[in-house]
Amino acid sequence: MKTETKDFIDEQYIWSLLDANRELPAEEINGIIDRAKEARGLEPWEVAALIQTTDEELLQRIYATAREIKEKIYGRRMVFFAPLYISNHCVNGCVYCGYHSSNRDMHRRKLSMEEIAEEVRALEEMGHKRIALETGEHPKECPIEYVLEAMRTIYEVQEGNGNIRRINVNIAATTVDEYRKLKEAGIGTYVLFQETYHHETYRKMHPSGPKSNYLWHLTAMDRAMEAGIDDVGLGVLFGLYDFRFEVMGLMMHARHLEEVFGVGCHTISVPRLRPAEGVSLDNFPHLVSDQDFRKVIAVLRLAVPYTGMLLSTRERPGYRDELFALGISQISAGSCTGVGGYRQEPGERRECNTAQFVVEDERTPEQLIQSLCVSGYIPSYCTACYRSGRTGDRFMALAKTGEIGNVCQPNAILTFKEYLEDYASPETRELGEQTIQRHLELITSKPVRDKTVERLHLIEQGQRDLYF
Ligand code: SF4
Ligand code: SF4
Repeated sequence: MKTETKDFIDEQYIWSLLDANRELPAEEINGIIDRAKEARGLEPWEVAALIQTTDEELLQRIYATAREIKEKIYGRRMVFFAPLYISNHCVNGCVYCGYHSSNRDMHRRKLSMEEIAEEVRALEEMGHKRIALETGEHPKECPIEYVLEAMRTIYEVQEGNGNIRRINVNIAATTVDEYRKLKEAGIGTYVLFQETYHHETYRKMHPSGPKSNYLWHLTAMDRAMEAGIDDVGLGVLFGLYDFRFEVMGLMMHARHLEEVFGVGCHTISVPRLRPAEGVSLDNFPHLVSDQDFRKVIAVLRLAVPYTGMLLSTRERPGYRDELFALGISQISAGSCTGVGGYRQEPGERRECNTAQFVVEDERTPEQLIQSLCVSGYIPSYCTACYRSGRTGDRFMALAKTGEIGNVCQPNAILTFKEYLEDYASPETRELGEQTIQRHLELITSKPVRDKTVERLHLIEQGQRDLYF
């Protein structure tokens, strides 16, 4: 297959869709919402119409439908992951990021393999099984060999019953050859945010470094897929440009991948612009309000029901919980966005707020788990699809039958049980056991439910890593 080199973000087309579908009559919007209820996704023009809706009554219907779809497909499960920053050396000049190359005050560091192992032990002690490996872009300080060695180290670290079972990787756009190496090293999802799909804004936001090449960045997923990585994660940094345009850009990107490779994106991340060291928000005229951001998440949920949606710790706790219900399926917990921030000596200050961006939700995973359980959710540490080869089109095929819930639900229960056995305080364990009992009842197939109960006993007897 030939690597894509064409720019498939046609701005004129996006604007024409937005213009033609602005302020449609309520009955047309209602028609789109009704179609969205079937959870088969939406056409670009329909997305253009919904994302421009401002009528409060219609917005409430959009939110209600997003909650319904979220509940139907993802139930009340929330998959946990943690970012792991291993190097903040960066040759790029992204104006919104604290790691940009001209930030001379930034303390630059790159973790040694021993330090990475220490960080992983700390993450495993929090119960994490899935991480997102993050680096800045620096050909000398952070070449692909360093990343591959880091991945090997991470997969090897076993602390008690802890192990990392899936490494998603977020590194700069690179060549097919290097993506192939990541594939061989056991990458989960390859994640790369386009940040903004708007060309002029992209140019302004990325004045220097290799990332300033829009087309190279845009076509990274094509090269990753060509190299055999079939789970890719898209993302926009909301606040750089008009959110309506960005949502359409995400649609165009996902469609493009679907057309060329037969499978769209596995996840979409929805970070929102936050303050960072050396970055003020005064120069960003497109910041997204809480109200509009709610709409972004709900409309994306309707548009691509089977694509996982990831939220970071950038959002404050109460609001973050509200967004969960609208469509978020994966969250980071106990995150530190500084390099080497998880493992500290007693009394040492966490480096989190001197990092890539400011973290607003500083709850520990345990606090977050308790609050999720109280709201009827079950935390999940599941990584089963990746490990049983259910990636790319195999994953989508299962997801679209609606049968995926019969796999995700028992896997959430089993992995949460592992967490309770290995890491939880007595208080959380009690709350967690009640949660498990409630969630067992939600498994619709009796044989699957019976098998899950059987496996819960095996976990109590010391077995680990059981999944469907
Ligand atoms: Fe470097 Fe990434 Fe920050 Fe840009 S966003 S400055 S590439 S770390
Ligand atoms: Fe994700 Fe697959 Fe686990 Fe469901 S079963 S939570 S889709 S890894």
